Amino acid sequence: MLQLAPSTQQIDFQGRRALVTGAGKGIGREIAFMLHRFNAKVVAVSRTQTDLDALRDDIGCQTILADLGNVAEARQAAQEAGNVDLLVNNAAIAILEPFLETKVESWDATMAINLRAVVVVSQMIAKGMIERGVPGSIVNVSSMSSFQALPHHAAYAASKAGLDQLTKVMAVELGAHNIRVNSINPTVVMTDMGKRAWSDPSKGGPMLARIPLRRFAECEDIASVVCFVLSDAAGMLNGLALRVDGGFWAT
Ligand code: NDP
Repeated sequence: MLQLAPSTQQIDFQGRRALVTGAGKGIGREIAFMLHRFNAKVVAVSRTQTDLDALRDDIGCQTILADLGNVAEARQAAQEAGNVDLLVNNAAIAILEPFLETKVESWDATMAINLRAVVVVSQMIAKGMIERGVPGSIVNVSSMSSFQALPHHAAYAASKAGLDQLTKVMAVELGAHNIRVNSINPTVVMTDMGKRAWSDPSKGGPMLARIPLRRFAECEDIASVVCFVLSDAAGMLNGLALRVDGGFWAT
């Protein structure tokens, strides 16, 4: 029978290397901080140098400047990251346009960053894990918009719904290599991205009213779930799309 000693249920990433994409701002920055606090060696990828410099000053992580929407840059970043044990695919953009006005350029940019980059980076990182024969854990930061149809979110929501299904296929294929893959699906967080979409009370108000906890999520709420799902304490979680929504989906 599997024996789980209490120590194996405490989050400690000592000796593990964690790659976080989109770590320059918002949720990704908080994930990098929390992984660092749990003793991981953090590698941060983002596309604004000043953000990366500030993060490196704060937690002493390795930083890689890359636009993950560019396949060559995404591959180069994954290569430079080295021997990664924990991967958080967090980088994303949200270009909000009514469906009838959704531009092909917006659609393509959204899919390139929110979905294709996850494939490109995860392929390289997972191959490295398999070659080294080490277990791995991958968390894809998705969104409640993959379950919930929101106006003006056509490209974003489609990218996140695709991400959830990609997560499941990765989980099925990589499970045999002891690599777990899960999505987490946050509700609104008032980051730069969140503010652009939800700070107008006519939009944010009705959304907030449907959340039983009567608050939006904080970056810490999301980062702590990401760390738990990455950790050995979540060793049987695989292929999930885990809602972090304060009970929204129960209403
Ligand atoms: P922010 O826009 O605040 O931060 C996103 C970060 O990702 C920035 O550092 C940004 O860099 C980086 N990034 C974006 N595109 C690229 C790229 N092509 N290459 C490299 N880095 C890139 O977003 P959030 O923190 O709010 O979102 C983080 C994740 O959480 C996303 O996956 C988002 O979809 C998801 N999410 C967010 C919610 C919210 O309400 N905020 C709700 C549900 C899910 P730069 O600024 O330099 O472009």
